Amino acid sequence: MLKSQMKMKTNHETQTVSVRSLVEFVLQAGDLTPGGFQRRDRAQLGTQGHQRVQRSRPEGYETEIEIAYQVEDVDPPLEVRGRIDGLYASAAPVIIEEIKTTTLSLELIHEEHNLLHWGQAQCYAFMYAQQHNLSEISIHLTYYHLDTQKEKTFERYFSFAELQTFFSDLITPYLDWFRKIQTWQAQRDQSIQALDFPYEAYRPGQREMAVAVYKAIRDQERLYVQSPTGVGKTIAALFPAVKALGLGLADKIFYLTAKTPGRLVAEGALDDLRQVNLRFKSVTLTAKEKICFCPPVNCDPEVCVFARNYFGKVKRALEEIDQHDAFTRPVIEQIARQYEICPFEFSLDLALWGDGIICDYNYAFDPRVYLHRFFDFDTEAYIFLVDEAHNLPDRARAMYSAELDKQTVLALRRALKAHLPGLAKKLSAINKLLLEKRQACQAAGQQALIEYEPPEKLLKALREFNQKAEDWLVLNQPAEFRQDLLEFYFACNNYLRTAEYFDTYYVSYFERQSQGALKAKLFCLDPAPMLAARLDRCQAAIFFSATLLPLDYFMKLLTGAADHPKQVFPSPFPTENVSLLIHNGIATQYARRADSYAAIASLIETICRAQVGNYLVFFPSYAYLAAVLDLLQERLPQGQLLVQDRGMTEGARAAFLEQFSTGNQETLVGLAVMGGIFGEGIDLVGERLIGAVVVGVGVPQVCLENDLIKAYFDQQNGRGFAYAYQYPGFNRVLQATGRVIRTETDRGIIVLMDERFTQARYRRLFPVHWRGFQIVQSEGEIEEQLAYFWSRA
Ligand code: SF4
Repeated sequence: MLKSQMKMKTNHETQTVSVRSLVEFVLQAGDLTPGGFQRRDRAQLGTQGHQRVQRSRPEGYETEIEIAYQVEDVDPPLEVRGRIDGLYASAAPVIIEEIKTTTLSLELIHEEHNLLHWGQAQCYAFMYAQQHNLSEISIHLTYYHLDTQKEKTFERYFSFAELQTFFSDLITPYLDWFRKIQTWQAQRDQSIQALDFPYEAYRPGQREMAVAVYKAIRDQERLYVQSPTGVGKTIAALFPAVKALGLGLADKIFYLTAKTPGRLVAEGALDDLRQVNLRFKSVTLTAKEKICFCPPVNCDPEVCVFARNYFGKVKRALEEIDQHDAFTRPVIEQIARQYEICPFEFSLDLALWGDGIICDYNYAFDPRVYLHRFFDFDTEAYIFLVDEAHNLPDRARAMYSAELDKQTVLALRRALKAHLPGLAKKLSAINKLLLEKRQACQAAGQQALIEYEPPEKLLKALREFNQKAEDWLVLNQPAEFRQDLLEFYFACNNYLRTAEYFDTYYVSYFERQSQGALKAKLFCLDPAPMLAARLDRCQAAIFFSATLLPLDYFMKLLTGAADHPKQVFPSPFPTENVSLLIHNGIATQYARRADSYAAIASLIETICRAQVGNYLVFFPSYAYLAAVLDLLQERLPQGQLLVQDRGMTEGARAAFLEQFSTGNQETLVGLAVMGGIFGEGIDLVGERLIGAVVVGVGVPQVCLENDLIKAYFDQQNGRGFAYAYQYPGFNRVLQATGRVIRTETDRGIIVLMDERFTQARYRRLFPVHWRGFQIVQSEGEIEEQLAYFWSRA
């Protein structure tokens, strides 16, 4: 509903609303989108078009005139602000010009083409006439065609009385909404002032973390918090952030997560605060593909009823804002169904009025999907709470990288050849360049060609293809190949945009694949400079995780700066509740792996026989898992083994976890892969999981990209192997072992199998709560240690 800026400050100073937002809020009507395609550089061309029209005007014509109008009798004061495109102040009567650029044929544009355009111009005319005591004024509404560079102008005269009536009709409904929001915010702030911590007592470390978060927000800092499971970090981050909001230190909280479970935990924490009388409107954003009522996503109002007359219906739906404080996915879906509107677009509209937004990292950091409505305008006082922040570097690398593959180029060329030969020819040019790269790889006997400059020739060919593709796409004609063309167009777009970021922390590579295929990728080696630019959108950012270790490594990858405050908290759980054993008689390096299978299978049997219960065993790869499984099947009954499959669905994942029940009479051993769907974000409390075995140090597979990262950081700080392999691997180990002790009453065992764990370079990484580890070298020792541990139950 509100595509442009429309924000209110939470303090009691003058509030502002832009002319555009005001007009859209009251007058916008009709379908969600025409379902049409728009040029990539539409915004840039629009600005240039505006300037061209302005330059063509005669002397005495003024441009970009800032104007503001103070609305009377409102508390807090409200100011309407905007900028007039063009003004003939010496004409009689004075002329205000509103300029709009278009790609639609001017013949199709009539005077009533878009009432919002007249609405904006009338607003400016009213504000100007009022300021200069004019009794009448003329409006020119000019449409400028971006391709033909021709223009069409409509002219209307208004008396001041007419403009006054128009403005009054516009501001009145807006003021109703404004007062409603103000009343709400006053209630919210009052509730925050009286708000106490929602639980009986702080857990060890929790209060300190909350204080550190509050100070970082107050001081507009970036704070890093390593806080083990059990500290209760979600509430320790949210509680001070909410308090800061109530004190006017911030306007909005973005709780940014890597995965859905993180969003649910944040919703739960806010619910707990509401139990102690917090009034706080939170909106959870769910990906369009997931929440869409009409999959597969096609937002053409001809196809989707939820896009039809969206703007006509959403105003009533927004009135429901009174009825709920927590706009979770089910609540959004229920209201969207009731009013027959798109749930995704509705969640975005609600977010404008929410105090907190719970969403994926993408919405703040990804150049393809970030929330323009918040971040493209003057930055307000936003707080970013970045949950499970150890995930962000890898996610960011993916967001700021782009790739194309040769096979897609060939397939699309085949599909287009008979219909759009000109476009097929452009694809041939791209294919030829990719082929040359492949041949160069082959000639050099290499798997990949690495370049430290953007691939200019390829970029030129992609640009030419995209311009031509746009010419066809903008006609919005149906065709069998349209979707494939559109997808490749967006992939090229992403590649071209990423090339604009290319810098010393980027590399371009061409990697040979099987059967003549080739991958062309612009790979972001270091996400910190890219993230830093996005972090400028917020006033304070808190990065927190149970496994933000080593901290310096994450600080380097998240912001590149080492001088931000950081906090490391110990585990609040009694150390005697866990037995941490390191078996350093096992070698899991690739070359020695095969020798370890039998010993590992035997050790797993020994561990599980020491105590009946549920265990998870984590392997470095599926192949390793399968090799040990073969031997384990001879040792443990089939019914006691559960195996993670590749590509498990959400349902299969849930079914797997359900078997970890406290009611199990026999031992259950789940075999999983480190860094996979069971290696993180699962919460098997109490006896649902009594032990974890980790095979290997988690080092990711040696591959081209990891080697490139290694080479880059070798050059940066001489720690390439650590940055590319050791630290990411150890993070997986920490995540896997973190599944065992989830509450202060949980008891369990952790067994690490790899000789490298006892080396100094690994021991340096151990979190404080690992201090009591025991080194074992034989099955007998393990048996003894475990017997002792379980006997103390
Ligand atoms: S319901 Fe789906 S198809 Fe319809 S407008 Fe929303 S996202 Fe688009």
